[in-house]
Amino acid sequence: MSKKEKNKECRLCNSVTRQIVDLGTSPPANNFIDTIGDEFTSFPLVVDFCDNCKCIQLRDCLDEEFLYSHYTYMTPDVDSLTEHYDDLINHLQTNSYISEKSRCLEIGSNNGLFLKQLSNKVQSVMGVDPAANIAKIANDLGVETLTAFFDSPTSEQIRADKGKMDLVIARHMFAHNSKPEKILLGIKNILNSEGIIMIENAYAVPTLQNGEFDQIYHEHMFYYTVRNMSNLLSNLDFDLIDVFDSQVHGGSIGFLAAHKGVRKVNKRVASYLSKEDDLFIEDKIFKQFLNKIASIKTKVLSELEGDYSNNKTLASYGATAKAFTMFSFLGLDDSKIKYCIDTSPTKIGKFFPIYNIKVVSEEHFRNDPVDTLLVTAWNYKEHIKSKSKTIFKPGTKLLFPLPDFEIFIV
Ligand SMILES: [Zn+2]
Repeated sequence: MSKKEKNKECRLCNSVTRQIVDLGTSPPANNFIDTIGDEFTSFPLVVDFCDNCKCIQLRDCLDEEFLYSHYTYMTPDVDSLTEHYDDLINHLQTNSYISEKSRCLEIGSNNGLFLKQLSNKVQSVMGVDPAANIAKIANDLGVETLTAFFDSPTSEQIRADKGKMDLVIARHMFAHNSKPEKILLGIKNILNSEGIIMIENAYAVPTLQNGEFDQIYHEHMFYYTVRNMSNLLSNLDFDLIDVFDSQVHGGSIGFLAAHKGVRKVNKRVASYLSKEDDLFIEDKIFKQFLNKIASIKTKVLSELEGDYSNNKTLASYGATAKAFTMFSFLGLDDSKIKYCIDTSPTKIGKFFPIYNIKVVSEEHFRNDPVDTLLVTAWNYKEHIKSKSKTIFKPGTKLLFPLPDFEIFIV
């Protein structure tokens, strides 16, 4: 893949984009290797902005087939998500976006947990997911799921079998595609004249304001705002009709859309747009982001360097997708980071490619403890703090890089 600094075209509108940030290069997130030395390629993590359609996009996108056919991320079955699904369903019901007669389709439906919960409130549910291993789990759960990438041919196949849909859901998958218009054209085929699209995604505004640079990795090809989502929908003859805040994944947003001119547009849309437009004046929000990430980098590296030069041992906690970007941006590898602790059996024993850091269990830490842990799974901060005494020896230093630099001694 070639890296061009100038004249890079926007993937949505072909205008010339400009660079916002370059976080270095990283192997694709969630790709672990069995043995150090296995060959692996790194790709640039550069984010560009398009002044024309306002989209924020990753410059180098990888092939979706490669990224998602054997996907390992599975939606966890946890209370906080069950509550979140209730909130989503409530929002859909109280605004009359669904009824007990609604026929619903979810794209990227993963293991079917959301559809299972929705199925009690509507007439029918169906899922589509490209990962055969995960679609099987959904089918076993009783949620009918087709193994496919969703696009126009897939949507025609579903329409022929099942008819049109009243609600099409795309949760936390929309930014994972380099050509969102392909998904929207598929939705256009299958959505009833008064049907609703619900897209839930990480919201670029808190990501930028909080300096969450580790949200930037190869699966995240676009960073959505209300403004750029509204432009994208409008170009494909849809209206953005409503927006709502969602607390999952550290600040997400729900977008509701319908065929153009069919549904009333909620006042919330204009209010979000005007707040956002203020933040983007003279690149205010991008400057804030760059300042914040520079300061995080300085603080974290000076703390780690200080410990290292005092002969303290270092490791990290959380073999997450975000960890790939964290290691890339901070320039860390196995010369400083002894290992990375994780609780997932599918990752333990493997290595981060390029950085050569081994993934180990919490048990491993007890036998071979270190003095300082960089918490790469910082989004579970409260959970990690509360269980820290049962995992780590007293005096272990936990370094949380985000959302604000914090040191916690066990
Ligand atoms: Zn554009």
